[in-house]
Amino acid sequence: VDNKLWKQKYSEIPKFPCPRCGEGRARQKSKEQFLIWEPNWATNELDEADLRSEVSVGKFAGLLRCEETSCDEAVAICGEYVANYEQVYNSYQEAFDVNTKYEYSIAGLNPMPRIIKIPDGLSDDCVEQIDAACNLFFVDLGACANKLRVATERLLDHLQVPQRRSLAERIDEFEKIQPGHKAIFDALRHVGNVASHEGKSDFDYVIDCFRLLEFALEELVENRSASIAAAASKIVATKGKPVP
Ligand SMILES: [Zn+2]
Repeated sequence: VDNKLWKQKYSEIPKFPCPRCGEGRARQKSKEQFLIWEPNWATNELDEADLRSEVSVGKFAGLLRCEETSCDEAVAICGEYVANYEQVYNSYQEAFDVNTKYEYSIAGLNPMPRIIKIPDGLSDDCVEQIDAACNLFFVDLGACANKLRVATERLLDHLQVPQRRSLAERIDEFEKIQPGHKAIFDALRHVGNVASHEGKSDFDYVIDCFRLLEFALEELVENRSASIAAAASKIVATKGKPVP
């Protein structure tokens, strides 16, 4: 999970991972493919508040395109912007320059890039829930957290943990089989539960849940720690001498 990519407010639109090829980055390639518009109602409101020379608010929409020329996937982006005009004195020209600072809130990316890496071999059912969570990220954070909880259930299916009355009991069951992951699974369960009952989720908690799930996938599906430990112990066993 790259913190610079997944935010509530952006001062500039970052290069997102391409949802199609995964190799390139989707970015704003030209000004023509990015529009901003301040509607009349907003202009009127800014006039009334005597803010028109200082602030602009409105909508933006555009296309980001994959840098990989053989791919060139187009990702539609839209949302709201706030622009603050800053007067900066230019002593060389003895006049004021206007510095515009934008703040974008993304309402949607389509197709949506994946927020976390998904290891090969993960069950389709689990991948489906993770993709659903990614799709809801900019749309509805509570529903997104809920999908992450369902993805946790599907991960436990993938790990062949037997069904129990509740997710909590299933997590305890897995802890007996393979200890050390209870806190991660419980965190995903809690954030999903709060989202189910209150319909809302804290942004930072949801980002943390993506990070926890990504870690769990690395450890439990890719067996990362185990393969690192095996590589290390092989070298130690031979004291670094190549095996003939
Ligand atoms: Zn691409």
